[in-house]
Amino acid sequence: MQTRWEVIIVGGGAAGLWAAGTAAARGKRVLVLEKNNKAGVKILMSGGTRCNITHNCDSRKIAEAFGKNGRVLLSVLSRLSPQDVVRQMELEGVATKIEETGKIFPASDRAIDVRDAVVRRLAREGASLVTGAAVQFVRPLPVENTGFEVAVQIQGQPQTILTCDSVVITTGGLSYSGCGTNGDGYPWAREMGHTITALRPALTPLVSSEAWVHELSGITLDDAEVSARIMGDDGKQAKIERSSSRGGLLWTHFGCSGPTAMNVSRCFSDRDPKSPASLSVDLLPDVSREACEQWLLDAAKDSNRTIANVLSQRIPKRIASTLLAVLGSNNDIHTSELSKKLRNGLVERLKALNVPIHGTRGYPKAEVTAGGVSLNEVNFQDMQSRKMPGLFFAGEILDLDGPIGGFNFQAAWSTGHTAGLYA
Ligand SMILES: Cc1cc2nc3c(=O)[nH]c(=O)nc-3n(C[C@H](O)[C@H](O)[C@H](O)COP(=O)(O)OP(=O)(O)OC[C@H]3O[C@@H](n4cnc5c(N)ncnc54)[C@H](O)[C@@H]3O)c2cc1C
Repeated sequence: MQTRWEVIIVGGGAAGLWAAGTAAARGKRVLVLEKNNKAGVKILMSGGTRCNITHNCDSRKIAEAFGKNGRVLLSVLSRLSPQDVVRQMELEGVATKIEETGKIFPASDRAIDVRDAVVRRLAREGASLVTGAAVQFVRPLPVENTGFEVAVQIQGQPQTILTCDSVVITTGGLSYSGCGTNGDGYPWAREMGHTITALRPALTPLVSSEAWVHELSGITLDDAEVSARIMGDDGKQAKIERSSSRGGLLWTHFGCSGPTAMNVSRCFSDRDPKSPASLSVDLLPDVSREACEQWLLDAAKDSNRTIANVLSQRIPKRIASTLLAVLGSNNDIHTSELSKKLRNGLVERLKALNVPIHGTRGYPKAEVTAGGVSLNEVNFQDMQSRKMPGLFFAGEILDLDGPIGGFNFQAAWSTGHTAGLYA
């Protein structure tokens, strides 16, 4: 293998593979080094092996989904929008489909088609991809502005030192470390002058130690609205960005999962473990408190029915039994016995069921890492470091984490594309 390259990309995931195709299309001599024996391992496992490629919305909505940090994405999205990603996939022969939720998947439901498309593109444009190649360090060459040296251990070979004009670090975050993502890029970035903001797991399931929560294991709600409630030092509820989410909620043997619980998990990763924390669940987000109360009052007119039976018209039976049990009642009680106190208690729990949360399942089950290379140290016009010319970042290594729905891949494709345009 030649030792001098124009561009070396460290990490053959979504961001790195896209960056390589773009840089090679400009005529650059590009090498991608990937630690795993195959490229794009996270693409392959994503979306339950279906790969939720992006989201059916405009660029502004993508940026907004990342909260206040997301503003920086507007410039990279103007160069590669969700529609551009779909177009590129289709050019590579991967037809796509939009699901009701707005998520975009390959029509084949096969993540491997997406991974193969990005690898095919980079190969066609003339970039080289070496797998089984673990990079050990990246640092500037001793003479200023002459490029970088990249030490790599390729399976079965002694360590090799490669050099390049520009280096793109796309090593991802810390989640699912078995996929090769164990945070290798952070110390290199630090040594080259960058700040790494607090790292924590995001898009990870929530843990509750409450027995009644575990008893609901297996129940799925298609439409719930959840809000993270975390108490600050002053005893008041802390104001946290992106603390609510609406959609599916899954009850599990350890707590709560599904898109809504995972979307707000970043709030629980952030918290001081001593602060009380809970998830407030609106079981009937389309029904106001007043309408909910009226529904129960109307139901009380039919004394032949049990309250459990009435509740189970709108919520799963097991949740109805749990609500009654929590309120010191039971499944046999009839609507004629529905006291004001019980009615108020039910309305309160239907609209704001309090689920104590004791932690998260952490990095091993996190889809992304929150925190990373500080955004104001990277110029998003070209994804180049403001600290060191020739050094570029893209993808999850940056301090950006979006919700479930294809947003994180879109950020990886778009930042990777811009890095590829300028590296
Ligand atoms: C289970 C799961 C499901 C997901 N599903 C979706 C989904 O459907 N839609 C969505 O938008 N997002 C999804 N995500 C998130 C998405 O996978 C990430 O946002 C995306 O992969 C980030 O891309 P990246 O290129 O920055 O990092 P990665 O894809 O993680 O790639 C980083 C690469 O760098 C390599 N690497 C690391 N260190 C070194 C080193 N020292 N030397 C060489 N190579 C190295 C790693 O092996 C890895 O291949 C999912 C994540 C998980 C874990």
